[in-house]
Amino acid sequence: MKSNLNTSKTLNNKINLLDLNPKNLYFFLNSLGEKNFSSKQIMNWIYKHNCNDVNKMLNISIKTRKKLNEKSYIFASEFIEEKISSDGTIKWITSIDNQKIETVYIPEKKRSTLCVSSQIGCALKCRFCATGQQGFNRNLKVSEIIAQIWQANKILKQKNINNHISNIVFMGMGEPLLNLNNVVSAIKIILDQYGFSLSKRRITLSTSGIAPALKKMKNMIDVSLAISLHAPNDSIRDIIMPINKKYNIQSILSSTLKYLKYSKANYGGVTIEYVMLNGINDSNKNAHELSLLLNNIPSKINLIPWNPFLGSSFLSSNLNRINIFANILRSKGFTTIIRKNRGQDINAACGQLTGNIINRFQRL
Ligand code: SAH
Ligand code: SF4
Repeated sequence: MKSNLNTSKTLNNKINLLDLNPKNLYFFLNSLGEKNFSSKQIMNWIYKHNCNDVNKMLNISIKTRKKLNEKSYIFASEFIEEKISSDGTIKWITSIDNQKIETVYIPEKKRSTLCVSSQIGCALKCRFCATGQQGFNRNLKVSEIIAQIWQANKILKQKNINNHISNIVFMGMGEPLLNLNNVVSAIKIILDQYGFSLSKRRITLSTSGIAPALKKMKNMIDVSLAISLHAPNDSIRDIIMPINKKYNIQSILSSTLKYLKYSKANYGGVTIEYVMLNGINDSNKNAHELSLLLNNIPSKINLIPWNPFLGSSFLSSNLNRINIFANILRSKGFTTIIRKNRGQDINAACGQLTGNIINRFQRL
């Protein structure tokens, strides 16, 4: 087994422990002459106790702590802004390289979901998505993805909010499959029993469908998949999601089927996301087309009312249209959910994440 510790090193040649997935932390400690068992203890301190100071890890020997201080550090980028919605949703902003990334906490009765970002901006330019309109800066490091969860846990504890994070969705800024290695390492930390210890069914990776990366991922990690389909045919998808010209619907669905074959996390089917755009993809004909397209894909469908953002000329389908569309799909046997939009008053809903904290919700 090979580790990639070198890629995690910073300028001063010290390693941020939040950049190391469990296997790489093990390798790193081995390179310091430490045993497997201290890697579990260290993860436990970092992820379960929100400890970012090696000197406070009292069950680690002083000798080991000294070595760790010489070769590593623990740094989780801090949130610089917080916005709380009237519905309890909280949006946090992190500033990285003078750019803003966003993390959203969505409390519900029986669970709480944290929506994390995987890139600064996004290169894919889906026309209905605010993130896509702002362009791409860079991939987030493992530590920058993990920091969002680490800081969220810390703040929820400080606020005495007992509704702990039970689900994590990669539905914030960016296309996770275009930052595959870092996202997979982050997921390994989220899954690990000494990390955030969430089960694979409670981690959802949402993707616009980068077919080769999806193929690669099936040998790397098993998590719940959400496919941003948003169109019942290539001609509509080509227009609203330019990436479709490279990876069309058939290539995405065939990679998805291959992933499902090996996946236990997707037992019961993959989630198909479908944003409802007035007059574009929301006719009865489109609903019938969609049902035929998904005929042999075990799936449940999430219909998402489109969230407006400044500068976009789309309109969301109205609720009546969405209900009719949903009922056609249900009549064909598909479990179909109309997603509630949360945190709209603070621009924290899907596709409203631009890192711009002064940009107010505005329907054009
Ligand atoms: N890049 C990934 C994950 C981030 S986007 C992806 O595209 O799947 C998370 C979800 O929000 C995707 O389904 C995306 O299509 C959807 N979305 C983007 N903009 C939206 C908007 N304005 N209104 C509603 N949903 C939107
Ligand atoms: Fe990127 Fe996803 Fe937005 Fe498309 S919908 S631009 S893939 S973040």
